[in-house]
Amino acid sequence: MGLKIWLNDGLVDESEAKVSVFDHGLLYGDGVFEGIRVYGGKVFELKAHIDRLYMSAKAIRLPIPSDPDELARNTQTTVEANNIQDGYIRMIVTRGKGSLGLNPLTCKTPQIIIIASCIQLYPLELYENGLRVISANTMRNHPLCVNPQIKSLNYLNNILAKLEALDRDMLEAIMYNHEGYVTEGTGDNIFVIRDGKIYTPPTSSGALEGITRNVVIKLARENGYEMFEQNLTRYDLYIADEIFLTGTAAEVIGVVEIDGRSIGTGRPGPITKVLLVKFEAYVRK
Ligand code: PMP
Repeated sequence: MGLKIWLNDGLVDESEAKVSVFDHGLLYGDGVFEGIRVYGGKVFELKAHIDRLYMSAKAIRLPIPSDPDELARNTQTTVEANNIQDGYIRMIVTRGKGSLGLNPLTCKTPQIIIIASCIQLYPLELYENGLRVISANTMRNHPLCVNPQIKSLNYLNNILAKLEALDRDMLEAIMYNHEGYVTEGTGDNIFVIRDGKIYTPPTSSGALEGITRNVVIKLARENGYEMFEQNLTRYDLYIADEIFLTGTAAEVIGVVEIDGRSIGTGRPGPITKVLLVKFEAYVRK
């Protein structure tokens, strides 16, 4: 027996969890998703994730055939059915089965999929030693294209940037927007520390409004740090004392090198470490 997967209106064994090859999620990346963590059997920031899923769906005119409370209950049910204590949930809504053409109106029934499984984190040694990253040539989605706030099933831009990093034996790339401002990593938000102050790009730059990002901003302020959401350039990264990334999967992880240049001392910095500890305490609260 494999995992129990939530498919539309109930749990099925993973061997039975199938979608059509005519699903526009597959044919066109027409759909939305969320990645969510489970800590100690509790789904972390479920409401925030579900809210973001509904906003993404609304932005692409995809009616989710379930209300948010029902989706939250079904998520919890999926976690319990798989006995997940510490894990990762992938929630997906596709446009559903339609014709081979683009027309989404041929798709009558959006598909809801919830997978609750184990988590794949960055290797532990990277939390000790920090990540090396590059600046990607691939630009973050332009706001007049698929808006960067939409967590759509089409992540090709980010995948191409990730490949640029992997080509250089690195795991993450920093993406810039059409004006040259820093936005975020391919799957993580970015924070920069200089002279004890913490900066992160505003969502208007094209940074996703990450749920981890929001928690870290809150924790930073509660712990007395000056925290600013403002546009940053590549220069600001090069002269930073510390850089860290945040995300559902990554949590809080230090960056020690960008474009071959060492950040700060070349080790994850003290404020990064404080915020990682605070974050770990917060998620297990
Ligand atoms: N940016 C992008 C492009 C992402 O896909 C993610 C992961 N969902 C993040 C940032 C981090 O957001 P969160 O903290 O909500 O996982």
